[in-house]
Amino acid sequence: MLLPMPNPPVPPDSTAPVHVIGAGPGGLAVAAALAQRGIRSVVVEKSPDVGASWRGHYEGLRLHTTRRWSALPGLSIPRSAGRWVSRGDFVRYLEEYARHHRLDLAAGVEVFRMERAEGEDGWLLTATGGRRLRASAVVVATGFNHTPRLPDWPGADGFDGELLHARSYREPSPYAGRDVLVVGVGNTGAEIAAELSGSGTGRVWLSVRTPPHILRRATLGWPSQANAILCRRLPVGLVDRAARPLARLLPDLSAQGLPRPEVGLYSRVLEGAIPVLDRGLVRAVKRRRVLPVAAVESFDGPRVLLADGTSLTPDVVIAATGYRRGLEPLVGHLGLLDGEGRPLVHGRETHPAAPDLYFTGYSNPISGTLRELGRDAPRIAGAIASAAADRRGTARRR
Ligand SMILES: Cc1cc2nc3c(=O)[nH]c(=O)nc-3n(C[C@H](O)[C@H](O)[C@H](O)COP(=O)(O)OP(=O)(O)OC[C@H]3O[C@@H](n4cnc5c(N)ncnc54)[C@H](O)[C@@H]3O)c2cc1C
Repeated sequence: MLLPMPNPPVPPDSTAPVHVIGAGPGGLAVAAALAQRGIRSVVVEKSPDVGASWRGHYEGLRLHTTRRWSALPGLSIPRSAGRWVSRGDFVRYLEEYARHHRLDLAAGVEVFRMERAEGEDGWLLTATGGRRLRASAVVVATGFNHTPRLPDWPGADGFDGELLHARSYREPSPYAGRDVLVVGVGNTGAEIAAELSGSGTGRVWLSVRTPPHILRRATLGWPSQANAILCRRLPVGLVDRAARPLARLLPDLSAQGLPRPEVGLYSRVLEGAIPVLDRGLVRAVKRRRVLPVAAVESFDGPRVLLADGTSLTPDVVIAATGYRRGLEPLVGHLGLLDGEGRPLVHGRETHPAAPDLYFTGYSNPISGTLRELGRDAPRIAGAIASAAADRRGTARRR
């Protein structure tokens, strides 16, 4: 895959480099696109290396998106990684991506806050060790899945068992012989429950507030992601109707306590719920190795109280309850976040109150985040190049 060649390349307008905050796929893709245009950037990463989120995910994770549609601009994922790339291979790909594009990485440096540089263009970043970093432009790529979100369950502090967020789950062996309640049935909760159920864990319950749409990852070789890419600009009602037969390719699990959802698939996506791509959950529920139960309401000593009035006494509760963006300390004081903590602007757009400041990766598109991060990167680099050219033009006219 090649980046579109800019014409003509635009050099940086200032001695201060562009700063990209975060060396996940989003930040690396933007830095590569900037390099392609001859624009100097530094990728500032709080962890010791690139791809920190992927290093921390559970070991059995594989991409749900195809190898081709998960590659970032300018470097393919090797064929040897297979169609559904493993977590480990994706981490190696990100390492290779940074090397291949000769990206300038400042690892082990966390950016805490940013301010407009007084009396000049650009930004001043406050970072680890009291560093003050001067940036001509900033791209914030700190991740949609930044801060694990644990619901504020009454009594959870006094729970007798072990309570952890899915971010801390690595693999099933520590749970052998123990009863586990997985809370939340997004892709992560579904996969962890299915993995535990086949690995010597005691009973495995799956707490479901709203039944998810469940689809095959691929049907006769055709990936669900391809449907999502084709459908994402179509009217919501039309996609909701078109998706119904796809869901029926999998068995109905109503008798096992996991009914088909009432709200259509695309309508749920717009509410923030991406469909579950099945990697073993359906079979595990069908065979009653994973037992769906109602939503968690509260905790009482060893008991977990559920919304239908029943209770369970699991040894372990794994909360697959999602993440927050965690952008408040960094940019909250600039008035750039909506009520849900998401940036008001995205991709190549900038907010009038914050020129030269870009955000990438703060949506959860049905077509695949990695694909969209790769598409946003050259657009952001283009916007940074145009803004730099405009400033040079203004300076010359003065
Ligand atoms: C379990 C899971 C599976 C997923 N599977 C897929 C999939 O199959 N296909 C797909 O398309 N998408 C998938 N996604 C969604 C998305 O592609 C990934 O979350 C992806 O990693 C997002 O990339 P990012 O660069 O935006 O964020 P991240 O990968 O989270 O990278 C953000 C980086 O910023 C760093 N950082 C954060 N704050 C600071 C700071 N203040 N200063 C310095 N550094 C900072 C972090 O350490 C991290 O390295 C998945 C997400 C999850 C959680």
